[in-house]
Amino acid sequence: MTRIYNFSAGPAMLPEAVMRQAQAEFLDWQSSGMSVVEISHRSKPFEDLLQEAEHDLRDLLKVPKNYHVIFLAAPARAQFAMIPMNLLRGKTTADYIDTGIWSHMAAEEGKKYCEVNVAASNQNHLSTIPARSTWQLNPDAAYVHYTSNETINGLEFPGIPDVGNVPLVVDMTSSLFSRTLDVSRFGLIYAGCQKNFAPSGMTLIIVREDLLGNALPFTPTVLDYQIQVDNHSLYYTPCSFSCYFAGLTFKWLKQQGGLAEIEKINRRKAAKLYHYIDQSNFYTNSIDPTYRSIMNIPFSLANPDLDQTFLKEAEKNGLTNLKGHRLVGGMRASLYNAMPEEGVDALVEFMQGFTEEFVNTSI
Ligand SMILES: *Cc1c(COP(=O)(O)O)cnc(C)c1O
Repeated sequence: MTRIYNFSAGPAMLPEAVMRQAQAEFLDWQSSGMSVVEISHRSKPFEDLLQEAEHDLRDLLKVPKNYHVIFLAAPARAQFAMIPMNLLRGKTTADYIDTGIWSHMAAEEGKKYCEVNVAASNQNHLSTIPARSTWQLNPDAAYVHYTSNETINGLEFPGIPDVGNVPLVVDMTSSLFSRTLDVSRFGLIYAGCQKNFAPSGMTLIIVREDLLGNALPFTPTVLDYQIQVDNHSLYYTPCSFSCYFAGLTFKWLKQQGGLAEIEKINRRKAAKLYHYIDQSNFYTNSIDPTYRSIMNIPFSLANPDLDQTFLKEAEKNGLTNLKGHRLVGGMRASLYNAMPEEGVDALVEFMQGFTEEFVNTSI
């Protein structure tokens, strides 16, 4: 068996050690004679599994006591509706920071439920984030929504924006667990799990207690955060395999030294690729250096006629899924936690070799 380096934006590579453990105990979990995907979600072993996963997650992110954790069987996108359904709290308007494809989609969906104030937008120049001093925030907004890492554009907030007392809501689908985080700065954090910590099918939500209990009257019961919290994410049948796998990943992250250590490795991996791109006269990344993502790195070739050859040659070298998103074009390398540093080294080496073999040296 040969594993290759998969640069997909999601579903994406998962830690090999975790995959091996899941494989080894798949048929007989904890000597039960059953698989973890066959046991009842109402059984004590499953309840323990979920509690342990939450415990490890709280350890990793140092989640304060007044926050609840929800493991929700839903796509990340469901939050675009669930957030206004649950967090308006009698208010009629919410602020959105539009920095790319995902945050834009969140704002569009929000319009079904409330008056959306786009407090800042980069739709005319997707390669940067408008300065905080230009944001038109509304002090009466129910919340401020933003996307910490725009997976498609490769644009990331280097820090957490200050929005005063209005609860800050963040889509961290492609950046949660990639670096340390001060959870206390947020009203709500959510992340679809298929980018950086588990197979697809689940979204993790961390929500501050005082924001709960105000769902709009028509909110479906299964989409009410309060119901999920009251039932410890077991109101309905959860995505058991994703819960289990996420729990294993949290233990793996702790073994790696926690998020501070992971962040160091992630920064080193990203810096290697950016450094190579920047000194090259064939590859470019056009994102404002202040806002470059450490998870998703788009780049383009000076001669787009070579894109197909590049992708084909990369495949031959065991480097896959480098094609950029159809809305952006070019290439994109996603370097989530599970991408080993050797994968980045292999990519850089390949990119170098590609220019030597296919590019006219007079460029
Ligand atoms: C992938 C992604 C989503 C969408 O995830 P789904 O689970 O497919 O809905 C939302 N936001 C961000 C930032 C993403 O990267």
